[in-house]
Amino acid sequence: MSEPLSLVWLRRDLRLHDNAALYHAFKSGRPVLPVFIFDRLILDALDDRNDRRVEFLVQEINRLQDELAKLGSTIIVRYGKPVDVWKELISQYTIGDVFANHDYEVYAKERDKTIGDLLAEHAIGFHTSKDQVLFERDEVLTGKKTPYTVFTPYSRNWREKLTDFYLKAYPTETYFKQFWKTKSLPVPTLDEMGFEPVGESFPPRATPDSLIDSYKKTRDFPALPHSTSQLSIHLRFGTVSVRDLARQAKQVEDKTFLTELCWRDFYFQVLDHFPHVEKQSFRREYDQIEWRNNEAEFEKWCRGETGYPIVDAGMRQLNTIGWMHNRVRMITASFLCKHLLIDWRWGEAYFGKKLRDYDLSANNGGWQWAAGSGTDAAPYFRVFNPTLQAKRFDAKDVYIREWVPELDTPNYPKPIVEHTMARQRAIDTYRKALKKV
Ligand code: FAD
Repeated sequence: MSEPLSLVWLRRDLRLHDNAALYHAFKSGRPVLPVFIFDRLILDALDDRNDRRVEFLVQEINRLQDELAKLGSTIIVRYGKPVDVWKELISQYTIGDVFANHDYEVYAKERDKTIGDLLAEHAIGFHTSKDQVLFERDEVLTGKKTPYTVFTPYSRNWREKLTDFYLKAYPTETYFKQFWKTKSLPVPTLDEMGFEPVGESFPPRATPDSLIDSYKKTRDFPALPHSTSQLSIHLRFGTVSVRDLARQAKQVEDKTFLTELCWRDFYFQVLDHFPHVEKQSFRREYDQIEWRNNEAEFEKWCRGETGYPIVDAGMRQLNTIGWMHNRVRMITASFLCKHLLIDWRWGEAYFGKKLRDYDLSANNGGWQWAAGSGTDAAPYFRVFNPTLQAKRFDAKDVYIREWVPELDTPNYPKPIVEHTMARQRAIDTYRKALKKV
């Protein structure tokens, strides 16, 4: 029998530097071999065969493969159902232990439980670590040891706790010679998995200190070329380390960027503690709202044809590049829930299909915030005015014109709904629903 290996199962942590699971795999003292599974259960459910996320994954896995080849090793890459793949791996390799980083989504937690049980049946250890967040589940709790459901006190506590200890990088580089020496294995192509390339380049994985420094001033203005970092896809798939980024953000004087990383942690812990948010309102009384759910209006919103320029610009940006500026995400989401009275779950699912940075926790948090049903909700009678928002954050229509070039022509649609009426209708509908409970 050959020497047992430590396998490290990469999922949302596609990097060799500063990776907790990889570090612990090295510390096991055995030769280490990374594994990645293109999860068939997830990929087969995607409607669109031109999916930026899948393309990004293939690109990044090939990059890892190149890095590992230079180190005389490889990554095992499979396309299949995780449980079937693990059964195969157990029969093909002599595995001592498996290492992975925590994943907080309901599906992922169930998957990991199944795989952990399977490995245990074969006397293989399954060891998991925190990696994709700075603080997880029970690390930042209220004085009563309960989870926070309001952001401001959470962020105060989070920031106090964030000492350099939590920002230290795992020095994986020191152990690279411990990768198992073997020849490169093939990586499935997009075509083999039934996808086609979108053929776009993705944002760079580094962000200059100057952006983080001026972030507070720029971040609300979607027309500015470097208004925000565009690192979301990298944070989503772990091609950057959140610790690296937080260290950078902690060093600059203004801490606004660091606060965004705190929002990210906040929504992860909300999803972990309150998994019902995936399907229901965080505040359950909001599930009494009688949504209008007009399909024709929903279609117009999706296509960016509502007649509200800032909403249309945002939706077209999303449809074209798979990303939308945060300020505009808030405006488009609020418009769908309040002006059109369409269930936030419809909008959430649409964003879920289109966003290259789609992340269940942040997307759900953002949508429930917009609908008023979430943890940190503004009072329901506060309804964004899309015209005023545009005046404030895109005063010269620069962003709008980029995505809505026909703005001043007769081809541009009339508003789908009148603002004052829609605002009052939303308030009345919400009030009625909340009175019922
Ligand atoms: P930056 O402004 O540069 O922020 C840096 C990083 O901080 C982001 O990459 C992200 O990881 C994190 N971050 C920033 N704002 C938030 C926030 N409000 N909540 C959680 N994390 C945040 N973000 C996602 O990563 N995936 C989503 O699916 C997603 N869906 C959203 C849906 C709605 C309705 C709303 C209002 C927000 C959503 N966000 C989502 C949060 C935010 O809009 C994006 O993280 C941000 O626009 C990504 O661009 P950036 O990397 O340039 O962000």
